[in-house]
Amino acid sequence: MRKKTLSIIIPMYNEEESLPFLYNRLTGLADNIKDYDIEFLFVNDGSKDNSLEIVKQLHKVDKRVCYLNLSRNFGKEVAMGAAFDYVTGDAVAIIDADLQDPPELIIEMLKYYEEGYDDVYAKRRSRDGESWLKKFTSKAFYKVLQAVSRVPIQKDTGDFRLLSRRAIEALKAFPEKQRYTKGMFSLIGFKKKEILFDRDPRVAGTTKWNYFKLIDLAIDGIVSFTIAPLRIATFLGLFTGIGAFAYMIFIFVRTLIQGVDVPGYASTICILLFVSCVQLISLGIIGEYLGRIFIEVKGRPLYFVEEYCGKSAIDSSVDSDSDIAISTAK
Ligand code: UDP
Ligand code: MG
Repeated sequence: MRKKTLSIIIPMYNEEESLPFLYNRLTGLADNIKDYDIEFLFVNDGSKDNSLEIVKQLHKVDKRVCYLNLSRNFGKEVAMGAAFDYVTGDAVAIIDADLQDPPELIIEMLKYYEEGYDDVYAKRRSRDGESWLKKFTSKAFYKVLQAVSRVPIQKDTGDFRLLSRRAIEALKAFPEKQRYTKGMFSLIGFKKKEILFDRDPRVAGTTKWNYFKLIDLAIDGIVSFTIAPLRIATFLGLFTGIGAFAYMIFIFVRTLIQGVDVPGYASTICILLFVSCVQLISLGIIGEYLGRIFIEVKGRPLYFVEEYCGKSAIDSSVDSDSDIAISTAK
């Protein structure tokens, strides 16, 4: 019988300092997995340091190491999307390059995979090495996202997980350019299993995220996942409309009873400001969706590959053992 393949996807962006540690831990892990062929798929997301060279060196001595070199930095979400297209495994794990996710957990994930689960995801028990602000904001974000969407969202869960082949195929069917992969994991359904783990601090290097990127991701998350904000805007308009109508009747009646009341400047300005504020927010929300429609409608390719070295059949023009660069448009 053919041995099954376990693929491990590692998106990396400027991770030269972490890679030696990571490779050590990964080979340690692979030694403990006897029933599977192993593929390490490093996705180089336009690193400006030596990450790619290090991986190429590893590939020379260890044929389990494959790599996909994207033509520039596309962001982790797209890097993962690219990896889904190229990965060959029957079971596919996704792990960060900075060892914040302990690779050893994949053994436990594999156990559940064999029991028939399609998506075994690691939920963070603790978040060492993260500021209280990041913990607080991430908690608030999950709360909001859950409140506005009907699909159950996995709380405190990153991309660290193990997926079955059919889950990968389902993820590949999402054509969107503005990707919120965490939402997609929920949307595909299938049998899910949660396991708990303690998230470690990074071994080396610095986080690639800053608060602007996180806010971006949060807005992407909500807007790509649900149209609830549009509805909220409608309700807000409805309620202010009802309020304005009630106030209008009040003024009308008062004028009838008390005659014309000239001083009314303060209340007029207040109402004016409030209503314009509601209008602007609603316009902004519509704009978010319109912008997204604009981007999707252009139908631009999600990513470009500068070089792929591995076993996937997508790029059959590439000899799996050659280092010749062949660019492919996807
Ligand atoms: N990453 C990437 N492209 C980017 C930013 C990050 O592929 O544009 C990778 C990064 O190398 C790491 C993973 O995504 O393997 C998570 O990034 P990071 O550790 O910076 O995020 P955090 O753990 O702080 O959320
Ligand atoms: Mg990290």
